[in-house]
Amino acid sequence: MRLEQVLNKNNLNRDDLIYLMGLKDEDKLEKLYNRAYEIKSETVGQKVYFRGLIEFSNRCIKNCNYCGIRHDNNKVNRYTMNEEEILESANWVYENNYGSIVLQSGERNDEEYIEFVNKLVKKIKELSNGELGITLSLGEQTKETYQKWFDLGAHRYLLRIETSNEELYKSIHPNDHDFQSRKECIAELREIGYQVGTGVMIGLPGQTREDLVDDILFFKDESIDMIGMGPYVIHEDTPLVQEVTDQAELRTRNFTWSLKMVAILRLAMPDINIAATTALQALNPIGRELALQAGANILMPIVTHPNYREDYQLYENKPCIDEKPSDCKDCLANRVKNVGDEIIYGAWGDSPHYFKRI
Ligand code: SAM
Ligand code: SF4
Repeated sequence: MRLEQVLNKNNLNRDDLIYLMGLKDEDKLEKLYNRAYEIKSETVGQKVYFRGLIEFSNRCIKNCNYCGIRHDNNKVNRYTMNEEEILESANWVYENNYGSIVLQSGERNDEEYIEFVNKLVKKIKELSNGELGITLSLGEQTKETYQKWFDLGAHRYLLRIETSNEELYKSIHPNDHDFQSRKECIAELREIGYQVGTGVMIGLPGQTREDLVDDILFFKDESIDMIGMGPYVIHEDTPLVQEVTDQAELRTRNFTWSLKMVAILRLAMPDINIAATTALQALNPIGRELALQAGANILMPIVTHPNYREDYQLYENKPCIDEKPSDCKDCLANRVKNVGDEIIYGAWGDSPHYFKRI
């Protein structure tokens, strides 16, 4: 049977990936998810690593057509957490033994912002005696800036390509974005020595299953270490929502596509880190658990202070808005236990792929 053959193949080609993306039958999907979980167990283990996510500012100079905090959305109440608040959150992550943090914000590249991040990286390293791993997700910057942050102690960087289809990329971004520049940023991050993370949105208007398969091939070509990809979820105050004809259908389809993508990616790139992203939970209350069962191994609990969470809404129905970091910790611990995975506290949980490629 083709499914069994493909699930047990070592090097999946484009046709195999398209075949898997086309699976519809529940029994077959179950087999795909089970096989992905088996491969995860053999490669990265039945283990989950936490990265505490601090969304420290929603100020952004860009205008991505899909994003709720885009510059021109004047309904957003803009904030930047101050240094003390950010360090307090980082300290909470450290004391609760999460092992690493992710600093994320809207994009800015002015001197004041870069200096601010310099200081944060340095101080977070100090407060944790160098123990906290630091991932940055701060958009496109110059190579010099990436290098500076790396030298100060950041060691992983997340920059989603959003889609590897250049035409589609153009259509979801105004002229403030350029696909080739984004690709160059990914290459620069790799040259500097970061563990490189990228990802895509799944189910954008106009995106096909073939596009998504090509995204997986892009990740392979770029030898990416970690992937954070999740469903495209609408935000009412963005231009892209105008292109969605049936919102309910989009939600259902994007959720299924996202789970399939996680599983297929685990088959295609067995030794990388794959995040069970928060956007999955915006579409299904147990979305992240299902992603862990389909091959994901990283969770990024939001540790942003509850005062700010409501103002960092990239899409509708963002989960955990009213919760404190400690609520999220207990809730996630139970969820991971239900899946049968073990949380590894106090470790960076680096991608095995990174150590093989350097
Ligand atoms: N500003 C930085 C950047 O764009 O790389 C980091 C923060 S940005 C909010 C992080 C990610 O949010 C983006 O890469 C994008 O994929 C995702 N995102 C934004 N709007 C979204 C939406 N409507 N649905 C799903 N993901 C979305
Ligand atoms: Fe800004 Fe990032 Fe949102 Fe684009 S995705 S508008 S760069 S925060």
